[in-house]
Amino acid sequence: MPPVEDPWAGLSPRTVAVTAGRPPAHPDAPLNPPVVLASAFRAGGRMEYARETAPTTEAFEEVVGALEGGAAVAFASGMAAANAVLDTVAPTAVVVAPEHAYTGVSVRLQELAAAGRIRLRRVPVADTEAVASAVDGAALLWLESPTNPMLEVADLAACCAAAWAAGATVVADNTFATPMLQRPLDHGADVVLHSATKFLGGHSDLLLGALVTRDVELAETLRSRRVLLGAAPGALECYLAVRGVRTLPLRIERAQDNARVLADRLRGHPAVARVRYPGLPDDPGHDRAARQMAGPGALVAIETVGDAPTADRLCAATRLWVHATSLGGVESLLERRRRWSAESPGVPETLVRLSVGVEDVEDLWADLSAALDAAVDAG
Ligand SMILES: *Cc1c(COP(=O)(O)O)cnc(C)c1O
Repeated sequence: MPPVEDPWAGLSPRTVAVTAGRPPAHPDAPLNPPVVLASAFRAGGRMEYARETAPTTEAFEEVVGALEGGAAVAFASGMAAANAVLDTVAPTAVVVAPEHAYTGVSVRLQELAAAGRIRLRRVPVADTEAVASAVDGAALLWLESPTNPMLEVADLAACCAAAWAAGATVVADNTFATPMLQRPLDHGADVVLHSATKFLGGHSDLLLGALVTRDVELAETLRSRRVLLGAAPGALECYLAVRGVRTLPLRIERAQDNARVLADRLRGHPAVARVRYPGLPDDPGHDRAARQMAGPGALVAIETVGDAPTADRLCAATRLWVHATSLGGVESLLERRRRWSAESPGVPETLVRLSVGVEDVEDLWADLSAALDAAVDAG
């Protein structure tokens, strides 16, 4: 597989996030990529038709590719990107996937398995030996680390090595960590998947996805999936995501600082039965995360004491924390994941996922701890 060249090698990702994806430098050139609203381009050039490619799409692809260290292909959403990967798998091929993973992907894998399109093997993804034995005879290993919403940490290098030995392609969903904290291609993954809807966009105002690979041929295959499945993103979404990426380093560092403080305090709150956060020294994923990530990230999962209604009361009682699905924006969000019937039954009923934002940490703590008190007192 011919490698994609990396013109950004040697620069800090903090610099790349600000620098990549700008128009060519010449006098009067705009600093930012214009929002080019065109479905068709004059013949004879490279663009031709916006499902193939488009200028604003390419700006987004340049900065995401530069951050992950490969060639990026943008999609209309994270799910569109996921389906593009799954479309490349041969009929009845074996796909190995985590028992707990992003619900949309999980449900789609189940659908494909039920229709006989793939054979699905689920594994506890933090159990490297289970992954290694499951990839035997598999075509695709689907990794997510840390996982949504259980915050389990997979050993990326070991899982990729096992898949490589078995001849399986590895796709790693890097939505939770972002390239600021983890670069799965450096650990041996073939493809990185992003829901840019989350941290890359960062402002809860767009839907967008991306796949990144170092394999030129695989990049072309994935790009053809975008073209033929009709999964091209809009120009405004790509523009907003590039603008979001400019502050990704600042946002993730601040949100992570907040998450560390909150996770530690939540452990001592009487309404909290368990905190899952790879930044806590006694978390099962702590050591592995410390080895393969630059930081534990800004997602925390807690289990409240009591039962599902207790967790629901918590979500209803906050003032600053917004009760909403999604994650990775500047504003802090929380939700009880099992309120979705499609969520894995392995996820505890009382698990509340916290997407920690960039607000003042003392304000966040005051609001959350008061809501926890209220949720228990009302029970
Ligand atoms: C949200 C999410 C997706 C799906 O992305 P969309 O942009 O909503 O289609 C995939 N993986 C993870 C981990 C997510 O959080």
